[in-house]
Amino acid sequence: MPNTKYIFVTGGVTSSLGKGIIAASLAKLLQSSGFTVTIQKLDPYINVDPGTLNPYEHGECYVTNDGAETDLDLGHYERFLNIPTSQANNVTTGKIYQTVIEKERRGDYLGKTVQIIPHITNEIKRRIQILGETGNYDIVITEIGGTVGDIESLPYVESVRQLKWELGEHNAIVIHLTLVPYLAAAKELKTKPTQHSVKELMQSGVSPDILVCRTEHHINEAIRRKLALFCNVEKDAIIESIDASTIYDVPNLMRKEGLDKIVLRKLDLKAKVEPTLEAWNEFLKHYKNPKGTIEIGLVGKYVELQDAYKSILESINHAGAQNEIKVNVHSIHSEGLNKENIAEKLKGLNGIIVAPGFGDRGIEGKINAVKYAREHKIPFLGICLGMQMAVIEYARNVLNLKNANSTEMNHNTPHPVIDLMEDQKMVTDKGGTMRLGAWDCKLDKNSKAYQAYGTDLISERHRHRYEYNNEYFDQLTKAGLIATGVNPKTGLVEIVEITTHPWFVGVQYHPEYKSTVLNPHPLFVDFIKAGIENK
Ligand code: GLN
Repeated sequence: MPNTKYIFVTGGVTSSLGKGIIAASLAKLLQSSGFTVTIQKLDPYINVDPGTLNPYEHGECYVTNDGAETDLDLGHYERFLNIPTSQANNVTTGKIYQTVIEKERRGDYLGKTVQIIPHITNEIKRRIQILGETGNYDIVITEIGGTVGDIESLPYVESVRQLKWELGEHNAIVIHLTLVPYLAAAKELKTKPTQHSVKELMQSGVSPDILVCRTEHHINEAIRRKLALFCNVEKDAIIESIDASTIYDVPNLMRKEGLDKIVLRKLDLKAKVEPTLEAWNEFLKHYKNPKGTIEIGLVGKYVELQDAYKSILESINHAGAQNEIKVNVHSIHSEGLNKENIAEKLKGLNGIIVAPGFGDRGIEGKINAVKYAREHKIPFLGICLGMQMAVIEYARNVLNLKNANSTEMNHNTPHPVIDLMEDQKMVTDKGGTMRLGAWDCKLDKNSKAYQAYGTDLISERHRHRYEYNNEYFDQLTKAGLIATGVNPKTGLVEIVEITTHPWFVGVQYHPEYKSTVLNPHPLFVDFIKAGIENK
């Protein structure tokens, strides 16, 4: 049995405190102390995965190499730790119940009444320990989604209680993330909400080992003492988490507060190497000291909600830092973009990204944006649906194939330049049935993509049902829309480029899922570089 240590992160008082960032920051610090670490997210909703959720509900759906559609926190984990996550890193109540009910139908529990305790809690505990049992990790951090006290979180908190007891002292600890609000009228930070949420946790038999307190103002000694006394936590286990100007500051802030030190002490571990965040801080230095600015437009239909394009925005941050440039991102609603206002709305942009998406809302606006970028020689990056729109635009306006479309948008289009993939035609279920996860792609050496990647065989993550229709390959190629990246096994076109344009690249995959702080994605880096040249 590997001697993996477990850290559980719960949340109290309110949602959106940034548990994912705290978990990722702690993991980063532990990683820099020489430990192998991974982070898992437990989501208390009944959807089997967030793949069928509208981004307005839950933000972006993230995709792993092995094709899991997951919570967007997994994106933070990968961006911070620079190692991939997998199916096992995101567990939902839907997945837990699905497994238990399948077992029940198979007869695995024959004769028994199947109940939340022990059957659901046992399945939760099994899922938590799967990552530890691989032997790949010294430490597994498990973030429990939701807020302590929610009905749906109860089985998770009970599982944590049991596991903490079973694993024994120094093998599992609980970090509770809470809010210490500032009352402007009283000019005071208030500890009562934290006291109540710890009490709630204790009623379920779990006492936190460490409190991480989100706050807008510094927490003084008196408040630390009060929190420690009333929440039954050691005083140096009260960690202040003050609002930061960027999430990438949080690892340094947590180190200053000694979070990693106290975690190691409580887990009875010694740092294997002198911790250093050298490369990380090098990134921060560039990120915070740009030598200029450029303007990038992000054209999509979920632009009201920043979380809907989380990975794209972070990829832009990474690529901006790499180029030592500040990138101002202008969110542009595709629905409002028409031929009359396009020049006005896209004025002054040094680069245009057309975002992924599903369904026909806003797609004519996206096509107009592609046309504008193509004709005005503005650097263009089309991602997934954005690439498909680029193909449609070229077919309509260069090949003169009137009403060319994707069959997703118009089933009866005379020119289905984007069409349902062959192996999708019999699929009826919506959940988990797209083309998902990592696929190889072979690059043409005469391409912007090859220039960016510096290699001719790449692997990128996908999430789509429709694809470039190879029946139009010859026509499109002859007219100048070149397929510069192709799946070597299936022949599916994964990248299109206009080689006579300064920088026009459409990709069927999602490069944004693979950009990390220490490995900014080459396509984003070169796209931003082209944006700088445009300026
Ligand atoms: N809706 C398109 C498809 O299914 C594109 C998907 C996406 O942008 N992720 O092929």
